[in-house]
Amino acid sequence: MPTVWVLGAGQLGAMLKQAAYPLALDVVPIEPDSEHLPDIADHDIVTVEREQWPDTAVTRHLSSQVGFMNADIFGKIADRFHQKTMLDTLGINTAPWRSVELDTKAEALHAELGPDVLLKRREGGYDGKGQYWLYEDQGDEVPSDWQGTGIAEKKIPFNEELSLVGARDKDGNKVFYPLTLNLHSNGILMASVAPLARVAHLQPMAESMLSKIMDSANYIGVMAMECFRVGEQLIVNELAPRVHNSGHWTQAGACVSQFEMHLRAVSGLPIKAPEVRGQSVMINLIGVERELSWMEVPSSQSYWYGKDVRPGRKLGHININHPQKKAVQLALSTLRKQLPDNYNDVFDWVDKELKRI
Ligand code: AMP
Repeated sequence: MPTVWVLGAGQLGAMLKQAAYPLALDVVPIEPDSEHLPDIADHDIVTVEREQWPDTAVTRHLSSQVGFMNADIFGKIADRFHQKTMLDTLGINTAPWRSVELDTKAEALHAELGPDVLLKRREGGYDGKGQYWLYEDQGDEVPSDWQGTGIAEKKIPFNEELSLVGARDKDGNKVFYPLTLNLHSNGILMASVAPLARVAHLQPMAESMLSKIMDSANYIGVMAMECFRVGEQLIVNELAPRVHNSGHWTQAGACVSQFEMHLRAVSGLPIKAPEVRGQSVMINLIGVERELSWMEVPSSQSYWYGKDVRPGRKLGHININHPQKKAVQLALSTLRKQLPDNYNDVFDWVDKELKRI
């Protein structure tokens, strides 16, 4: 079996490594600033846990290997200008946008995109970082450090945020997990719920959108598509050419997790439509101290990434899964008591969504 080298050694790389065991694959995440250049065989695979990386000796080494997967996609997705252009070219719904050039004025952006305009950095923005709202009624101007570095998007009055995680193998076969409902706060994912019967009718539309994207790029592996639902329409917010936080629930709620599915696809092993079991909820642990009592909550599995605790930082997640919704609700009520008060809104949202199921 090939070794699978992962560019990046954060939690996604660690969870890919965890998922590799049943496949007897050796997965080796590599820090982008590592000084050691690993010896990579031609039949080995190189994949990524991030769509952008600093230019270092080891990232150059990894990305120049014969087995570096999806080499062409990163340039198309990591820069929002190219990502939005690709979506437009494919005829896939995305928030109306335009490039912020050196001489772009707020007035022109509002004339084209409406009174509330969201500036997003072309590169490097994630988890709501690299965003700036321009409000016409406050007379905001385009800040100088945004000129020539961003795109501007129309504000989408969305009903909710859904994501689709899918995988494609080298022969073009594709499989998908059910649409996942996501709650973001300040641009950071806080919680996910899946599956949801009430959005199942949108699944074929979502799958055909992501299929088109993956096929056009001849993509191999897991890709995530984050969408806004506006009425019965899906509008793509952004794409991630990798395993994704909104797919973490699949570790508990699907027979093959997104991590294993990605490894199967990139290493040429069979992929299969994931059978989904029971009801899943994922709660992200953002900026909170670790509590060992989480580990005692029935119907749950907790992941702690071992990073230093900092406000707003993703430090772990808890998956709750059970065939019966009632058991999931019970686990959530226990967890609510164990997490800080600022999580009340998150639990209120999940409770409300579970009641609708
Ligand atoms: P992003 O960093 O692009 O994933 O955006 C983070 C969050 O900002 C999204 O999950 C939305 O909640 C919000 N957001 C992004 N783009 C828009 C938009 N065009 N209109 C309204 N809200 C947005």
